Amino acid sequence: MSITLLSPGTVAGISAGEVIERPASVVKELIENALDAGATRIRVDLQGAGLKHIRVSDNGCGIPLAEAALAFSRHATSKLKTLDDLLHVTTLGFRGEALAAIASASEVEMVTRVAEAVEGVQVTGGAGKGMSVKPSGCEVGTTVSVKKLFGAMPPRMKFLKSPSAETAAVARTLEPYALTRLSVHFILTVDGEERLNVSPSTDQLDRVRAVLGIGDVQLLPFRLTDGDVHVHGFAEPPGSVRRRGRQWLQVNGRPVEDRALRHALIASYGGQLPRDTQPYAVMFIDLPPDQIDVNVHPTKAEVRFANPQLVYQTLLKGLKGAFGLSQVQSAAGTGVASGGLLGSSPREGPSATAVSEPLAPWATVDMVPAGSVEVLGQLFQTYIVARGPDGLLLVDQHTAHEKVLYERL
Ligand code: ADP
Ligand code: MG
Repeated sequence: MSITLLSPGTVAGISAGEVIERPASVVKELIENALDAGATRIRVDLQGAGLKHIRVSDNGCGIPLAEAALAFSRHATSKLKTLDDLLHVTTLGFRGEALAAIASASEVEMVTRVAEAVEGVQVTGGAGKGMSVKPSGCEVGTTVSVKKLFGAMPPRMKFLKSPSAETAAVARTLEPYALTRLSVHFILTVDGEERLNVSPSTDQLDRVRAVLGIGDVQLLPFRLTDGDVHVHGFAEPPGSVRRRGRQWLQVNGRPVEDRALRHALIASYGGQLPRDTQPYAVMFIDLPPDQIDVNVHPTKAEVRFANPQLVYQTLLKGLKGAFGLSQVQSAAGTGVASGGLLGSSPREGPSATAVSEPLAPWATVDMVPAGSVEVLGQLFQTYIVARGPDGLLLVDQHTAHEKVLYERL
């Protein structure tokens, strides 16, 4: 096979696949652009699970006529100038890739106007074609219309789920932004039917309930600052977790996935989660922008912390502090908690409020050196009791089995 350079259209299509995987990716990028533009009202309209039509309108700052077409070029951004700027990104976008990727995967139309201009501009194109520009009467702000998404990318189509699953993914995409941007009015319609309409609010819990629709779930607020790290949010109190809840984690207003912080959440329950349940939790983490690297994932779904341990501990302590005595009492009362491993975080016993001596040295351990464990027996047909290098080990055999399967996968 000989080596040839790919055509610009093919290159654009390949990189579009990195950021635009499904309709929800388009919505994510357009919402982020609207928020970066300072919008206080964002409306998302979806037709045909987003494959037919996605429209996102905002009342943000708009784009000046001279720059409107450029916005669709790869690496065209107003948010970064130099590599150094990457060290303290405060906007949701920064790579200048999204509009270009969207345009290479669909037919797009954007109308936009800045407040100073008497007239707006309409940019149309996409699906591998160039962009054309003409004047247009419109409000201040920006509306991007995306049609026939992946129409020219059959391989991408194959990986999509059912229309209802793709629609649900769009709705989920909106949630985290609506959770953090209280001053923004968010609207979502699906095939003409209103799915979400949350007006600006000043009450975080009201917003959480309005956006997530989990009115029947008990939520306890938590809040803690340690050094530069500030954590706050809401979590289901131990003892009231009954089902597989969902978790929302945001770092500096950016929805992210983080296995370690998910672990901190679970660990904060000190082994009190009934089997096969997960708590509902909304967790916000804020820290100075130079303490995180936001440029580590193609769809910006992960960040890297300069001091991950501090973030982990602050979240853990914030949650445990909110759960307070109830956690210690119930653990002390039963002796053995109902699921998962006992204890809290590595090398840490319950807080100073704990009066029950035997609990003090308990800790959650993720790993012990192979060959250092001697199995003593089984308890309640649930726990393997073993002698470990640092003392007695209780292994939840069900969880351990899941972990083995997970690692194998
Ligand atoms: P990025 O957000 O990473 O800069 P995008 O491709 O998403 O890259 O957008 C390119 C540029 O277009 C942005 O930097 C911004 O200047 C402008 N832009 C995009 N969407 C909007 C919008 N809704 N309102 C105002 N400006 C926008
Ligand atoms: Mg963007």
